[in-house]
Order: sequence, then structure tokens, then C-alpha cells
Amino acid sequence: MDYLREIESKTAHDHHHHNHSNEKMKIRSPRRVYVPGPVIVGAGPSGLAAAACLKQRGVPSIVLERSNCIASLWQLKTYDRLRLHLPKQFCELPLMSFPQEFATYPTKQQFVHYLEEYAKRFEIRPLFGEAVASAEFDRSVGFWRVKSVGVKEGEETEFVCRWLVVATGENAEAVVPEIEGREEFEGPIVHTSSYKNGGVFGGKRVLVVGCGNSGMEVCLDLCNNNASPSLVVRDTVHVLPQEMLGKSTFGLSMWLLKWLPMNLVDRFLLVASRIFLGDTARLGLDRPCLGPLELKNLSGKTPVLDIGTLAKIKSGDIKVCPSIQRLTRYTVEFVNGSKENFDAIILATGYKSNVPSWLKESEMFSEKDGLPRRPFPNGWKGEYGLYAVGFTKRGLLGASIDARRIAEDIERCWKADAKHLAAFTRSLSPQS
Ligand SMILES: Cc1cc2nc3c(=O)[nH]c(=O)nc-3n(C[C@H](O)[C@H](O)[C@H](O)COP(=O)(O)OP(=O)(O)OC[C@H]3O[C@@H](n4cnc5c(N)ncnc54)[C@H](O)[C@@H]3O)c2cc1C
Repeated sequence: MDYLREIESKTAHDHHHHNHSNEKMKIRSPRRVYVPGPVIVGAGPSGLAAAACLKQRGVPSIVLERSNCIASLWQLKTYDRLRLHLPKQFCELPLMSFPQEFATYPTKQQFVHYLEEYAKRFEIRPLFGEAVASAEFDRSVGFWRVKSVGVKEGEETEFVCRWLVVATGENAEAVVPEIEGREEFEGPIVHTSSYKNGGVFGGKRVLVVGCGNSGMEVCLDLCNNNASPSLVVRDTVHVLPQEMLGKSTFGLSMWLLKWLPMNLVDRFLLVASRIFLGDTARLGLDRPCLGPLELKNLSGKTPVLDIGTLAKIKSGDIKVCPSIQRLTRYTVEFVNGSKENFDAIILATGYKSNVPSWLKESEMFSEKDGLPRRPFPNGWKGEYGLYAVGFTKRGLLGASIDARRIAEDIERCWKADAKHLAAFTRSLSPQS
């Protein structure tokens, strides 16, 4: 068992204490920790779901998280008024329901509370402040080497494990587009990940770039805080009502898909949207050629679920603008040649995966977008004990499906290993 020597086996439980022989032998190399079960990178909803499903099947894991809390996207990078966009029954993690008293669309605070209770219930205690900087499969020993850097002290640790679960999310890093003249612009330019509420923008002219769910909602929030928002719409977009006659559009679509083909459900959604919202193209929001579900299925582009922004566009409280050409000190010049003064710019330009920056592997994950190459439902499993949870472009529902599959798969190997180990131990005992 050469690898045991190589690894200088330590368990996850004693990793806080420095091992003397380790220190003597390798003064400058990183601390090395042998993890008997899987290492999960990321303590967002996906990482927690995977850890819980594994725990339930008797497989211990450790979770590495770069920030200082669980669900850092939700706790640190989202705006105050955020609620789940989908009804709660579509956002539950495996093995634990939302409390009954939660609203149909739980608030961000409720969702974070649920996740904290979830972590408690399954005794998930992530190692916080550990940013994974690289992970590579070491063929010579058949293990993953996962290197993390302590965010506080800069101390390096190498975790050695057989299974690696990537749970760093589709939203790990903010996408910030290059805009000509950016340095010249005098006002603040902030990404939605640092926008909390419109309070500080009262009375100001604010340009919001990007018309996804976040951009639309930030505009609404700015209106409610007496700012004057304008919305840059570069692309075509499907806007659907969040609810139709008291039923959630998402739920209704899921139900219809049980009986009808996708293109018919799309047609229904478009007719219904026309009835409830009117012709969005007349407001400057052209619809894509493909229907909302087909587009989501093919490209992952999520339709906007309207929660009141459209009415503000209709009333003229929110202005729709074309793409930005360039910025000067106080002015934004648009591609159609028009110019307008603004006090601040908010970039609702989305997020991207950071997997290519740390995972030394290119078969399972695309280096281009950091997402699994194989589409849903097949993107969760790679080679050599590599797994992905939460990269399905299907939100929390997709993450839950991944988490269950991963736990089932790892449990199988875990049990087989345990059997071998038991047989091996028996063969060593004097009675045998
Ligand atoms: C504004 C907003 C609203 C949303 N609303 C909904 C909704 O209503 N319903 C829905 O289903 N989905 C929604 N989503 C999608 C959302 O991304 C998922 O619901 C969910 O947060 C995904 O969980 P995750 O664990 O995969 O990723 P994340 O929540 O992003 O968690 C990933 C974690 O990994 C950590 N991490 C990243 N890189 C490293 C590294 N190198 N080392 C260590 N740790 C690392 C991050 O700090 C983070 O804590 C929303 C997203 C946004 C931005």
C-alpha cells in the first residue's frame, strides 16, 4: 500500500493540529490532510445538499468554503428585497421541507435560515475561509489532491481524497463587461452583487445594465426608492408573469409539460403572457424566436418572471435604452447616438463559474464556460471520482437531483471499499 506512505495518512478530524513528523519532514510544503470520504468544494445550497445526502447514506464528507458562512451568494451578494423566484416547493433541498409558515416565495432571510437549519440537522460543519486554488487527480496514487489557501493566514493545505464534488456554483464570480470610457465616468459603477437596496440612490438617475431577473428587480427597487432608473436592454428577452390567475407560471409549465410537448406549452405561455402583460416588444423588450422553455432548454437562458417592473416601464417610470457605446464624465452615449446624463451605473450582468481557474481537468468541465460539457441530466459525473452538483441551469431543483445521484453513486464505492477493508483486516487477524 504505497499510497498510504505517500499520503502520510491523517484523518479529516485531526487536521486542525499539526502533525509533528509532517512538520519535521516537510517544513515548507503545505499541510496535508487525508480525507477518507469525499471533499466537497463550496458550501452553497448545492454543497450542503450533497453533504446531507451523503451523510444520510453513512458517508462522511468535508466541505471547503472560501467565505466565512454558508450560502455566501445569498448572504453576502444579494439585495435586501430578494425572494426566491420560484414557489417554495420547487426550491427545497433533499430530505428537509420548508417550514409551513414560510411564504410561497420565501424571503432571502427565510431561505438562509432554512439552510442554516439544514446544515445543523445534518451536522454539516464546513471549513470556512478555505479557498480552493487547485485540484488535480494524481494518477500515480489514484487520489485527488485539493489545495486550498486559508483566506486569513494564507496557509496552504492539501486535502487528499478519492472523491471530489465540485459545488462552487454557476454564480461564483461576477461578470463585469468592459465599457469604453469606464475610468472617465465620475459616478459609482457597481455590480448587482454589491447592491443592497435603492436607499442611497434616492433622487438619482441610475442606469441598470442587463435585463435578467436581477436587472428588472433592481429597477423596481430603485423606483420604489424614488430614484429614476433606466434599463439597458441589449438582447431579446422573454418576460412572463410570475403568476397566472393565482397559479405560479413555473408550476403551471411543469404541470403542462407532463401532458403536452414543449413547443405547445411555449405557445400557451406566450399567448397567456400577451393577455396578462401585453406586447412587450412595444416596450422595447423583443422576444427571442424560440419559446421560453425551448430557449431555456437549449441555452440555459432563464425567462424573466415579472413582479411589477413591466408596469413601471409602461408608466414611464423606467426607461428602456439600447446598448452603451461609451462613457464620459457624466454622460452615457448609446449605440443609437443618443446621450444622457447619469449619476450611477449598476451592472446586472450576471455571474460565471470559476471552475477552470482551479480544477486541473478539461474532460468533464468546459474550459470556456466552466460548466459540465454533458447536458442535463448527465453532467453530474466525471472520471476518477469527480462529481458536479448545481451546474444544471435548473436552480435548486437541479442541484437536488444531482446531490441525490452523487450520494447514491459514492455510497456504492464507499461500501465496496469498506467490505475490502474488512476482509483485509480479517485476513491480518491471528485467528484467520
Ligand atoms: C439573485 C439570485 C436569485 C436566485 N433565485 C433563485 C431561485 O429563486 N430559485 C432557484 O432555484 N435558484 C435561484 N438562483 C440560482 C442560485 O444560483 C441557486 O439557487 C443557488 O444559490 C445555487 O447554489 P450553489 O450552491 O450551486 O451555488 P452558490 O450558492 O453560488 O454556492 C457556491 C459556494 O461555493 C463557494 N466557492 C466558490 N469558489 C470556491 C473555491 N474556489 N473554494 C471554496 N469555495 C468556493 C462560494 O463562496 C459559494 O458559497 C438565484 C441566483 C441569484 C444570483
